[in-house]
Amino acid sequence: MLTRIVAVALAMVLSTFTTPYASVAHAALALTSQEQADLLYTREEEKVARDSYLTLYGLWNLQIFSNIAEAEQSHMDAILNLLDKYNLSDPAAGNAVGVFTNPKLQTLYYTLLAKGELSSLDALEVGGLVEETDIIDITAAVGRSQHEDITKTYETLMCGSRNHLRGFAQAITADTGLPYQSQVLPQDEVDQILASPMEKCGSHARESATADLHRGAH
Ligand code: ZN
Ligand code: ZN
Repeated sequence: MLTRIVAVALAMVLSTFTTPYASVAHAALALTSQEQADLLYTREEEKVARDSYLTLYGLWNLQIFSNIAEAEQSHMDAILNLLDKYNLSDPAAGNAVGVFTNPKLQTLYYTLLAKGELSSLDALEVGGLVEETDIIDITAAVGRSQHEDITKTYETLMCGSRNHLRGFAQAITADTGLPYQSQVLPQDEVDQILASPMEKCGSHARESATADLHRGAH
């Protein structure tokens, strides 16, 4: 009888320890529908950045657009790795530059281009707007992420966005002689980013925008 009580007690203790591990293991596989939606959206939002910069580079021949477009390609690739890992189909598959599956992002792209076509200064401001918007959207996605690999990837992208914002703000100030005005983020948050130095971002640190931007400054 005593043996049986001990066995039952032991089973209870074991289940106390094993249940949480089992659910963690399960959580590591399954994404919430919100996490899935965020990955799909981010994949195309990074494409909005890449495609806008490629097109604006074609219009204005400013090196900064070419350099940052390369970084956006690496951000797109990082999200594609996660889509593959979690068996989600790629919304950007087969889409040419300027073509998007999400209608909201298609409209955003056209809006950005309409402004960026006006002047090279407008184009640089589009760059600032894209980066500020990415920071807002990725911050929200980080808040909803329940997976460390996804959160880490988002943080690498956000680090890149801060560097890109620094780059565009610097180019705008060089052009206008005026401090950069925030567009969708609070001004004090932008000022904090601009007052801090370029960062090395994630595992792609060597290919980060830091080096690209410095090259582009010549
Ligand atoms: Zn990006
Ligand atoms: Zn960027």
